[in-house]
Parts: sequence; structure tokens; C-alpha cells
Amino acid sequence: MIPLDPGARRAILEACDSLREESLDWLFRLVRCPSTLGNEASALNEMERLYRHLGLAPFRIPTEPARLKDHPGFSPPVLPYEGRDNVAAIHRPRQARGRSLALQGHVDVVPEGAADMWATPPYQPAIRGGRVFGRGAGDMKAGIVSYAMAFRALQRAGLQPAAEVQMQAVIEEECTGNGALAAMLALPKPDAVIIPEPGPGVEALYTAEVGVVWAWVTVSGRPAHVRDMQAGVNAIEAANVIAAAFKAYEAEMNRGERIHPAFHGVNHPVNVNLGTIEGGEWNSSVATRCRIGLRVGVMMGCTAAETKRDIERLVAEAASHERLRGATVKLEFKGFMADPCLFPKESEISRLAARCFAEATGGSLRDYPATGLTDGRHFVLYQGTPCAVFGPDAQDIHGIDESVGVESMHGVTRSIALAIAEWCGVERL
Ligand SMILES: [Zn+2]
Repeated sequence: MIPLDPGARRAILEACDSLREESLDWLFRLVRCPSTLGNEASALNEMERLYRHLGLAPFRIPTEPARLKDHPGFSPPVLPYEGRDNVAAIHRPRQARGRSLALQGHVDVVPEGAADMWATPPYQPAIRGGRVFGRGAGDMKAGIVSYAMAFRALQRAGLQPAAEVQMQAVIEEECTGNGALAAMLALPKPDAVIIPEPGPGVEALYTAEVGVVWAWVTVSGRPAHVRDMQAGVNAIEAANVIAAAFKAYEAEMNRGERIHPAFHGVNHPVNVNLGTIEGGEWNSSVATRCRIGLRVGVMMGCTAAETKRDIERLVAEAASHERLRGATVKLEFKGFMADPCLFPKESEISRLAARCFAEATGGSLRDYPATGLTDGRHFVLYQGTPCAVFGPDAQDIHGIDESVGVESMHGVTRSIALAIAEWCGVERL
């Protein structure tokens, strides 16, 4: 670590505080972009604006399945990639003296769900009780704003990092991770990565994350009028039999002896989510077809490939159930095929993150073995680059009335500013 002189440290923290209004402004601008899957363009354009505002020259990085398909971190796509290129920018120092760093964040958000249940519309950011509400406010647009404003704070203090700093704004963290993979492979390997993903309702440092596999099961039954119900095979009921088999698998995978030490103390770390269902034609017809979409967690110690085989076996067994006689069952894998990952808190970048957070806020980051996943795995598993994943207090991410704590976001900004300055060193502007 390059020791930071007390004057520079004070100037950087004061600059962070002078950027509070501007930080909120950028967060609002990003939350106004409804950047769900396939609709990321406005958020990506906003990221170009943000990088330009930092004096950098943004450029696009396409996600090209033809080039990525044999990479172990690649997941089967759910949507074509045209018109959805990731955005990156690189700061180059006058003289590289410190270690290089990547600041990474995803711009995609999950669907808002039942918009009528939100207290305020999901893409109209609103402040209540010291929190910013809106889809993506916590996951993870506040984190993106934090790293950008941290960099800006150095500039305002008359400084810049004395090492290369990459910024990466990527798509599809929420369904494949392919955007992050494409960006990582297109850029030079950095010495460390910071990803400001939100913590579980408190500020936290990720210590591990599960893997995830997405599976889609389509059942085609035999249609009939309900008066001849026994002659038909109801695809919706058949799909329920298969879903029940997944829940039994979930219970089995959460048995104590299967849980990796990194997840000890976590309640129910391996989750199987029946996320989507579509099917049926008419209330008085035996349903012909039903498709369910599942998200299956992968415990540390298992691989996505093993879980895929488990799912294949599970579906084959369920398909032979007597209630599925005469039905056809199709299993597809599209979306996450992601391995679990550890983020050792002894790594230099994670220790730096924890120390800078303590110095910048007076608080501490809670250790967080996450039952969901981030883009951090790519850097750790496939590039060998240590990665600190830590971020602000966010609540109800993926739920209704998602929010992020305003003070918490500013605290993360101050922490990242100190971490950049120490990791990279600084030079006068
Ligand atoms: Zn996220």
C-alpha cells in the first residue's frame, strides 16, 4: 500500500463530501433508466455521460457469444446482444507508480414486479427517511455512482490515481454474467477489482457466493375437455410434480453436512426458486403446455456442471412419474451456468476495503457469505485477480420498494476514494 499523506487524505474526504448533491443527482439519473433485460440502452448511454464527466473517453465492448462460448465462465444466452454493448473507460496516469485497479458494476436491473405495489413508481426515484427508493437504486446503481464519485473526488482534491484504473459498466449480471466476462476479457488484467454490490440490509463485504444454474422445463400434456379429464394429461399439474421434485432436491442440498464452511451459520444457503410459470389455454380445457423457469443454487464445493447433471437426472426421474404418463418433457439450460466463488477476506484488496471503510465511516463491514451471486466470480475464478465486493446498505433488492441508504452510499464513496488512493497511489493533476 502506498501511504497517503494526511493532507491528501483530508482533501479527498472533503471532496467526497462536496460531491453529495452531485452523487444523488447521478443516482437519480441512473434509476430513471428502466434497464431491465434488453432495455439497458438508456443506462449504458448514461454511463458514457458519467465517464465523460470524469474526463475519460468511454468506449463500447460487445458481448460476442461466438468468441465466448468455449470459456468456462460463459452462460447460455437468453437474448441476442446487438445494440447492448457494455461501456468501459480507462484512466492512464502520467507515470504508473502504483497498482492498477478495475471498478466494475452492472447497469441491468431485475423487473419491478407488481408496479402498483410500490409506494412510488419504481423508475421515479424518491427520497424518504434518508433512503433513495427505486428499482436498481441499491442493486447496484448507488455502487456505480460511488466508484465514479470516488474517482471524481480525487480530481477535486487536485489528484489522480498513479496507476491505470479501468471502469466497466456491464449488462446481464442478473441472468448470465456474460457482459462482465466480455468486458474482463477485452481489457488488460488489473491488479485488483472493486465491485460495489449492495450488502444484506447493512454494509457488507462478500466473503463467498453460491453458484447458480437456470433451467427451463416445458411440459406438453394431452389436451381434452374437462368433462373427459381422465383422458387428458394436464401440463400444469404435471409441471407441479416436477417443481415438487426440485423442492425436495433443495431440502437435500441444504442438509448440514453438504454446507461448505464458508456458509456455516447461513440459514438455508442453497435456494431453488420457481421463478416463472406460463401455461394453459382455457379454464375449461385440460392444459396442453406449461413452462416453468427455475433458478437452482450451487453450494461451494459443487460445480455448475454437476448441478446441471443433478437437474437432468431430477427431471428425467420426475418425467417417469405416473401423473406424467403420456406427457413430453423438454429441459433447457438458458441463463446462469455459474460456479460458486470465495472472496478471501485476507486478500490485500479486501483488507484494504475493510480498513478504508472503517476509516471513512467509523463503522465496519459485516462478513457476507452471499446466497446470491455477483460478477466477481469471473475475475477470481478465470483471471486470478483478487476482488473486493462490498457496498452500501440496500433493502428489498429484487423486491417491492427497493431502497438504498443515502448516508451509506456516501460512506461507500469515501471508502472507495481512500482505497483507490492507497492502492494506486496518487499524482498531482
Ligand atoms: Zn447486483
